[in-house]
Amino acid sequence: MKIKAQFGMVMSLDKCIGCHTCSVTCNNTWTNRPGAEYMWWNNVETKPGIGYPKGWENQEKNNGGWTLKNGRLELKAGGRAKKLAQIFYNPDLNMIDDFYEPWTYDYETLIHSPEKKHQPVARPKSQLTGEYMELQWGPNWEDDLAGVHQTGKLDPNMRGLEEQVKLEYEEAFMMYLPRICEHCINPSCLSSCPSGAMYKRDEDGIVLVDQDACRSWRFCMSGCPYKKVYFNWQTKKAEKCTFCFPRIENGDPTICSETCVGRIRYIGIVLYDADRVEAAASVTNEQELYEAQLSLFLDPFDPEIIEQAKKDGIAEDWIEAAQQSPVYKMAVKQKIALPLHPEYRTLPMVWYVPPLSPIMNALEGQVDALDPKMMFPTIEQMRIPVQYLANLLSAGDEEVIKVVLKKMVIMRHVMRAKQLQKEYDSS
Ligand code: SF4
Ligand code: SF4
Repeated sequence: MKIKAQFGMVMSLDKCIGCHTCSVTCNNTWTNRPGAEYMWWNNVETKPGIGYPKGWENQEKNNGGWTLKNGRLELKAGGRAKKLAQIFYNPDLNMIDDFYEPWTYDYETLIHSPEKKHQPVARPKSQLTGEYMELQWGPNWEDDLAGVHQTGKLDPNMRGLEEQVKLEYEEAFMMYLPRICEHCINPSCLSSCPSGAMYKRDEDGIVLVDQDACRSWRFCMSGCPYKKVYFNWQTKKAEKCTFCFPRIENGDPTICSETCVGRIRYIGIVLYDADRVEAAASVTNEQELYEAQLSLFLDPFDPEIIEQAKKDGIAEDWIEAAQQSPVYKMAVKQKIALPLHPEYRTLPMVWYVPPLSPIMNALEGQVDALDPKMMFPTIEQMRIPVQYLANLLSAGDEEVIKVVLKKMVIMRHVMRAKQLQKEYDSS
């Protein structure tokens, strides 16, 4: 056994209000520079939706010819000649249109507009060309349209207002999915980099790009299934989320966590067995991937693990941090947080508590606290289809999602009961 420490993040999706404060503060801190205008190291996408960059979950189109075979990254095409051809013409590499062209409002028209009958309107202007733009897409374009298109139920031939309204509004659903680099335990950006510029810090697992070593190949961009590496068009180097390592080293949380309005983000250390990584990433049955990744994590309270961790050079205060880690608690102990697309097999370290509130809305007025059956909503009562959440967080395994959602329902009932007791005691 070889024990390593790894930073991770848990995001509780119920609490995200889609305010984008995290993206803006990240942008102001890290990417507010020439060549990085289009980069959102942290982005918040509307789901169901095509996301940012456009269609990143479409791995058929987007994995740049890479495939993970037995936990290792290989070029699908194979062969050096094809590899070279891909370097010069990689049709699967995401382009600026997939990210969106950065733009700003032309405020000059507001300030210097001559007196007219109507108010002047600030028009969007490209930051790259200075031209006025017709906006046709953006990372949250689906805010107003989600559900209608994504339920897949809208039948263009259907007649009847009542039914249309039901499908378009009553059954519509949306949620927000904030995303950063996953700082994967088995990072394919690193495996695909021919220059050795991508590296994973031994002490805490943060994945970084050595700017001096980067040779602009951009294989990391096509190799990352989450599409979380960007290319700075001015410096010609790859860039990505750094898990705010200068802040972390100073004892501060990442900027997205510190400024999160919904307080949805939890940061922590977990201990894992590096000797088991290859086996976990090589699991062929997709439905076993979540369990396989879980089995990597070690109990930081176990005296044998503590002893081995010390032998493997992990400092005592890091072991203590692992014991207090909310990531360990929510992902490993309570098992209420799940990895994003575990089927990508990179062993991602940003995990999500699936959203529950639509269930509670559906149960409103039906809950009898004394009837245990009422604590377990049926599939019909869930607004966001379980299958959708399963495709996002458990490689399609609905049972995993159902167990987590039931735990969440029970936790809410317990917290409400405690609150009631408090009110009763103080009355
Ligand atoms: Fe690399 Fe992508 Fe994983 Fe981040 S999410 S560590 S960029 S493979
Ligand atoms: Fe969601 Fe927090 Fe980001 Fe707001 S700041 S969009 S609540 S993750």
